[in-house]
Amino acid sequence: MRILILQPLPPREVDDRPAYVDDVARLGARLRERGHEPSLMIVREYDEEALRLKIADVRPELLVVYLESYYTTLVRRLAEHVSQRHYLPIIVGGPHATVAPHETLSLIGVEGIVLCEWDRAVPDYIEARRVGSDCIHTEGLWLRSETGTVRNRLRAPEKPEEMVVLPDRSLYSAGQIVDSRGCVDIQATRGCTFYCAHCQQDLAAGLYEEGGMPSCRRRPIEALAAEVEHLRAAYPAMRSLRFVGCTFPLDAEYLGRFAEALSGPLRVPFTARAKTSELTPELAGLLGRCGCQEVELEVLSGSDFIRNDIFHLDLSERQILGAFAACRAAGLRTRALVQVGLPYDTIVTIEQTGRLVRRAGADDVDVSIYYPLPGTKAHQVCLENGWLSGRGADALLAGESALDMPGLNAAAIKRYAALLPHLVRNPKAWPALMKLERLHLGKRSLADLVAPLLGQRWGKHRGTP
Ligand code: SF4
Repeated sequence: MRILILQPLPPREVDDRPAYVDDVARLGARLRERGHEPSLMIVREYDEEALRLKIADVRPELLVVYLESYYTTLVRRLAEHVSQRHYLPIIVGGPHATVAPHETLSLIGVEGIVLCEWDRAVPDYIEARRVGSDCIHTEGLWLRSETGTVRNRLRAPEKPEEMVVLPDRSLYSAGQIVDSRGCVDIQATRGCTFYCAHCQQDLAAGLYEEGGMPSCRRRPIEALAAEVEHLRAAYPAMRSLRFVGCTFPLDAEYLGRFAEALSGPLRVPFTARAKTSELTPELAGLLGRCGCQEVELEVLSGSDFIRNDIFHLDLSERQILGAFAACRAAGLRTRALVQVGLPYDTIVTIEQTGRLVRRAGADDVDVSIYYPLPGTKAHQVCLENGWLSGRGADALLAGESALDMPGLNAAAIKRYAALLPHLVRNPKAWPALMKLERLHLGKRSLADLVAPLLGQRWGKHRGTP
């Protein structure tokens, strides 16, 4: 069967990172395994003509949409248009389908949705649909029927020994896989054992646990090594890897085997993200032996109350300083991940954040504006306090906060997100910047105008785990 996968992304002027998503490539691989022909369309804006041309070219029999919570407005319009003009059945999966199944299934034109992992549930459904059997009872899907919604139980997640399939990167062009620095995303783990209040993984892990199924799994080292080999051969422009997810570096035995399997000339330098509270000196040392060059560590906020009471990171200041020190001792660069405009944030807590990152000695800091992802505990906090402005994800894509809080409005959040790196890099200039912050020239504060002259050597946030 010919299947068109739609993957929405932000407009290029907002975010020009490579489009590659491992979940999509894994679905592609599983579809090919079953003899189907998947194609991919990246959608950055609502464009009926581009969609018509793609559908005319591919002639799909089914449309599958990978939906992250930032793109619900776009997908709502696309699904309605496809169902009314192209008469294609639509299945939606991805994080938003898992955290907001009722809302997603209610989109006009959507026949069914997939909760949690979709790469084997979608092929199962296609097969059942093709032979006309009991497809309405396919595990992992919620489907519309004449009598209402059929909520099937979750499909069991892949077992580690099944995680050997090479993701189908051929769906993407090389430019959609290798970034401008030659870095390629790769995934060694699926799921997570932690419950951070800003992360949608939290909900998926909870659903699996309710069903008595494990959430966090690691791919066999041989499969990982084979994928790295494949990447080296297929993408000569690749210079480094970036391991997606927070749990890859947290198993000493796994890291030890990884270091052995990819040693000598097979080694590729990489960046890894680690759950900050769990990164010990031993793990940092092992990461260094594996070829890791940089570790991304989430600090989130300098306020203990925000980090732990609101976001449940279970992360003390001491653990933060310890994780950064462990990386330094192992010769690894560090990148601190922080957010501003968090629930209960004020200028005082933002300053605490900057000072904590400074004390931790991070080599780099990524500052992003907090967005309350649906289905998360932190979203609930915002909802209960009446802080959701209604501006939604479109605001975030435009660099604005989606919150209206009494102590910090959206304009101030945007300004402090831009100014915070200067507090980390040059704390002596901060009091002067704060004075300039109160003086305005038209709509902009003088701090906005002066800050760029102080230099900006910090990177951009790379998105959700
Ligand atoms: S932020 Fe990272 S550690 Fe926390 S739940 Fe999400 S994936 Fe797990």
